[in-house]
Amino acid sequence: MAADRVVLASSNRGKLRELQKILHQENIALLPQSEYGVTDAEETGLSFVENAIIKARHACEVTGLPSIADDSGIEVDALNGDPGIYSARYSGIVGDGADEANNAKLLKALEHVEEAERTARFQCVIVYLRHATDPVPLICQGTWEGRILTEACGTNGFGYDPLFYVPTHQCASAELPGEIKNAISHRGQALQKLLKCWNSRP
Ligand code: IMP
Repeated sequence: MAADRVVLASSNRGKLRELQKILHQENIALLPQSEYGVTDAEETGLSFVENAIIKARHACEVTGLPSIADDSGIEVDALNGDPGIYSARYSGIVGDGADEANNAKLLKALEHVEEAERTARFQCVIVYLRHATDPVPLICQGTWEGRILTEACGTNGFGYDPLFYVPTHQCASAELPGEIKNAISHRGQALQKLLKCWNSRP
């Protein structure tokens, strides 16, 4: 049976890799929006949910295909939840070098914060739209609790993974093999919920 085609409303290669791996097992071909010439939508929302809907709707409008968007970020308690929805643009640098600059800014912001106060969590909202005017988007969320390290560890993953300590596995997220991260992460959890809703839809 031919795979269902769904566009991923993102140009983040790390997200694409993780989501493609899970959806491939469900016979869903997740195609990057760049294949259809879709550029990033402006994220003008004030929540992960709003931004995910904005991105998914934009990809549907341009491609005419169903779309999935992931809006995610890291909330750091000592920074009152920042950078949150602004995680990708925390340092002000966009594109190449953004991850390194974001991580450097986060380490600096927490320079004088004790280990016990460095609690943080990744949040992920995944939205599925059948078409641009879909009045019932599927919206699922996942949360992953951890702590911000004092130096970068590991080379897997993307974004803040080298700074995110995973207490259950006693290592940084960037030290986890991809399959393990996908099984426990905010994104993995949100996507598993989405698949459940998807498969039980009439
Ligand atoms: P978005 O593209 O606006 O959703 O931004 C998400 C940003 O949050 C990414 O660019 C990363 O900086 C961060 N982020 C989200 N999920 C992860 C993850 O799984 N690992 C590391 N960083 C993440």
